[in-house]
Amino acid sequence: MRNTPLSPATRAAQALRLIDERTGAVTPAIEMASTFARDADYAPRQDYIYGRDGGPTVEHAEAVIASLDGAAASKVFASGMAAAVAMFETLRAGDHVVAPRVMYHGVINWLIRMRDLRGIDLTLYDQANPDALAEAIASKPTRLVWIETPTNPNWDVTDISAAADLAHQAGAVLVVDVTAAPPCTMAALELGADYVFHSATKYLAGHSDITAGVLSAARITPLWEELGSIRTLMGSVIAAFEAWLLIRGMRTLFIRYERASHNALKIARHFEGHPKVAQVLYPGLPSHPGHEIARAQMQGGFGGMLSLLVTGDGSIAHDVARFCEVFIPATSLGGVESLIEHRKVVEGPNSVVPDTLLRLSVGIEDADDLIADLEQALDRAR
Ligand SMILES: *Cc1c(COP(=O)(O)O)cnc(C)c1O
Repeated sequence: MRNTPLSPATRAAQALRLIDERTGAVTPAIEMASTFARDADYAPRQDYIYGRDGGPTVEHAEAVIASLDGAAASKVFASGMAAAVAMFETLRAGDHVVAPRVMYHGVINWLIRMRDLRGIDLTLYDQANPDALAEAIASKPTRLVWIETPTNPNWDVTDISAAADLAHQAGAVLVVDVTAAPPCTMAALELGADYVFHSATKYLAGHSDITAGVLSAARITPLWEELGSIRTLMGSVIAAFEAWLLIRGMRTLFIRYERASHNALKIARHFEGHPKVAQVLYPGLPSHPGHEIARAQMQGGFGGMLSLLVTGDGSIAHDVARFCEVFIPATSLGGVESLIEHRKVVEGPNSVVPDTLLRLSVGIEDADDLIADLEQALDRAR
C-alpha cells in the first residue's frame, strides 16, 4: 500500500474515491430519500434519520470539502448566506463582532440587521488599512471576527495568520470567507482560522448551476455542535441533487482555478496602464498593495476575480457591461463562463463601491477572446 498521502488535487479529482462497494459505481449515487428506515433493533443506520439533518450524498460532499480544507469537519448549506446566517445565529445580544467595511454585501447587510434588531455590537473596520483590524479588536472584548480575503469587489488582501493572532489574543473566533480563494490556492485553517466559509455556489461548484454554502471547522467544539443543530432546525441543509452537483464540480476545481487565474492575470496585465482604464484591482499584479501577502498565502494562483475602474464616469462602466459580447452581464462568480457586472448597480444605492468599477469573474475561455471583448466594449462605450 502507498504510504505517502495523496495530494489535494488527486483527492478532489477522484472525490475521495468513495466507490460504492455494492455496484462499483465510480460516480456516487444521488440519495434522494427524505427519511431513513430504522434497522431490526429500531436503531438508525449510520445515524441517518431524516433528510433535514443531511444524508449520504450531503455527507459525501462534506467529506470532500473537509479533506480539501484540512478541516475536522464541514457542513454544507443550501446557500452561502444560509451558512453565514447559521454562524450569526450563534451570537448573543451584546456580543462584539468585527467585520470589514467592504466585503460581500449580503453578509454585511445581515450583520447590520443583527445589530439593529438583535443587539449585536458591530464594528466595521477599514480592510484597506493594515492597522484597522487590530484597533477594532482592541476596542472591546470580541466574540467573532469575520474576514474575507481577497475582499469583494476591491480584492484587498488580509493576512490570515496575523488576523488569527489578533483574534485569538482577544479570545475571539476567526471566520474567513474564502469564496474567492478556495483550498486549491489557500489553506486558511492551516494559517490559523477557526472556521472557513465558502459560497460553494462559486468556485467549489463552478458551473453556475446551484447555490450552496459551507462552514468548515478546524476542530470540533460546542459551537460546531450548535451549528449542526441550527442547520437542522432552520432547515438550511443542501438538497441531495445539489450536493451531487457540488461533488461533480469539485472534481475539476484545481484545473478550473488554475485556468481562471492564468486568464485573469493575462487580462490584468493587458489593461494595467491602458488609456481607458484608470486602475486594475488584482492581487496578482505586483502593483497591488496586497500582492506580497497574496503571494505568500495564495500558492495555487490569484484566482479569476478582478475589477477594472474605467476612466470617465459611471455611465461608461455601465455601457461596457452592456456592450460585452463574450463576458455575460450577470452577477455571481467562480463559474467556467466569464461574467461582468457594474457592481454599484448590483449592490444598490448604499454601496460604497465606486461607480466606475466593473467586476469581472474570469472563466476558463480563451483569454484573447476575453481581452478582445473588453477592448471592443471599451471602444463602443465612448
Ligand atoms: C456569493 C457570496 C456569498 C453569498 O453566497 P450565496 O451562495 O450567494 O448565498 C458570500 N460571500 C462571498 C464572497 C460571495 O461571493
